[in-house]
Amino acid sequence: MAPRCWRWWHWSAWPRTRPPPAGSTPSSRRLLSAQEQPPQICVVGSGPAGFYTAQHLLKHHAQARVDIYEKQLVPFGLVRFGVAPDHPENVTHTFTQTARSDRCAFHGNVVVGRDVTVPELREAYHAVVLSYGAEDHRALGIPGEELPGVFSARAFVGWYNGLPENRELAPDLSCDTAMILGHGNVALDVARILLTPPEQLEKTDITEASLGILRQSRVKTVWIVGRRGPLQVAFTIKELREMVQLPGTRPMLDPADFLGLQDRLKEMPRPRKRLTELLLRTATEKPEREEAARRAEASRAWGLRFLRSPQQVLPSPDGQRVAGIRLAVTRLEGVGETAWAVPTGDTEDLPCGLVLSSVGYKSRPIDPSVPFDPKLGVIPNTEGRVVDVPGLYCSGWVKRGPTGVIATTMTDSFLTSQALLQDLEAGLLPAGPRPGHAAIEALLSSRGVRPISFSDWEKLDATEVSRGQRTGKPREKLLDPQEMLRLLGR
Ligand code: NAP
Repeated sequence: MAPRCWRWWHWSAWPRTRPPPAGSTPSSRRLLSAQEQPPQICVVGSGPAGFYTAQHLLKHHAQARVDIYEKQLVPFGLVRFGVAPDHPENVTHTFTQTARSDRCAFHGNVVVGRDVTVPELREAYHAVVLSYGAEDHRALGIPGEELPGVFSARAFVGWYNGLPENRELAPDLSCDTAMILGHGNVALDVARILLTPPEQLEKTDITEASLGILRQSRVKTVWIVGRRGPLQVAFTIKELREMVQLPGTRPMLDPADFLGLQDRLKEMPRPRKRLTELLLRTATEKPEREEAARRAEASRAWGLRFLRSPQQVLPSPDGQRVAGIRLAVTRLEGVGETAWAVPTGDTEDLPCGLVLSSVGYKSRPIDPSVPFDPKLGVIPNTEGRVVDVPGLYCSGWVKRGPTGVIATTMTDSFLTSQALLQDLEAGLLPAGPRPGHAAIEALLSSRGVRPISFSDWEKLDATEVSRGQRTGKPREKLLDPQEMLRLLGR
């Protein structure tokens, strides 16, 4: 018997009166012949990249089945564990609709690369999409980075957002000054959480344990340090505006850092222009009376320092914890956003009791069979197709690197899904039926792994929401995987 080709649909399946528009994605209108099996597709990771990929596949192929594997017990990845609690995202509603589709299944508590390998998934499915994000942080690679009191911003964010692996972090906030390294949005997120009056966080889903520590915090000053200048900051205007207006705090910007920038505004693209205008106003303009009074009363302060690159974390005299940071003074070579920092040879030491390194996230390789570019921290791919591995795809941060907001990941994931569906149409995916989850379920069971279903998650979700209601929060997150399993009767 000739092998069957996975051409599920043909443009001929479209109504003849209206040809498909050029470049359009395959439509849910296509039909399967009776003997054909729906394509079995697997997505690894249930953050925004995974869910948006699944959503697009289900929408644009009327028969496709999608299984989402997730290493955490619970879904939603960065939306649950990465986004600041005072910036709630409403995308979980859409993701829940996707997960509830009868052609989609969520399997939490499955670590791909450990419990099941990528080759095993590729055997079981017609296509595998890797959407597992960037679960690591970029290290600074400087002496003293391992001292107590130095944390990656990623771990700090995981701590206040209830990521199980970070729940014991309990940072010591008994110092006066914190230093945040990096000028991105994550840096501003952690600065804001450190300085926001705790009573404002009480109505968010921040964990009660971290709120308890933040209530006791003695941190009065937060410096946010960048190796380049005001024209190269990576944070965006909304996040900067929130800092400028943060109750109980005042900004500390040195007007000397902004000399000459006024004249360059007109040549800047609009987002950079608006951001620079806000920096300039905050640094150089005298605030109106009410704002001046607010700042004068503020008990906490934050400031931006420019042209300073971290060189060494300085230990306390007993060597037991961080006591300061040595920064290399830099100057810029080149112009505009692409100018780079070179050390001048001078250094500056600043005392601090807490260092949060916020210089970016990093993806990890998942499986030796999957190509990985360690320098860029991405899976080499062409428009989401993993190079030299037919039937393997990637989307989100592991595809393009750890940049961009959730909407960027949505577009990126839709494009990967589109590429996959085009390959399906072109007959480029493996022919013949595939067992899909049935085969993986048997493998996992033989290895003692018990996945969590989406309805299991919905029970945990209900528990979290009900615990949150007692204190007026949207939810109180469960932090301990053992407790989650107990609640599910495991
Ligand atoms: P990011 O935007 O890439 O910023 C990283 C910062 O670290 C940059 O200022 C970078 O400086 C600096 N840096 C990198 N390597 C360094 C080194 N070796 N020494 C000193 N500084 C170094 O990364 P992120 O803040 O982690 O954010 C990740 C993505 O998530 C971004 O796209 C961000 O916009 C997004 N995000 C968005 C929100 C939001 O929308 N509210 C919140 C959080 C995150 P250089 O520019 O000089 O390299």
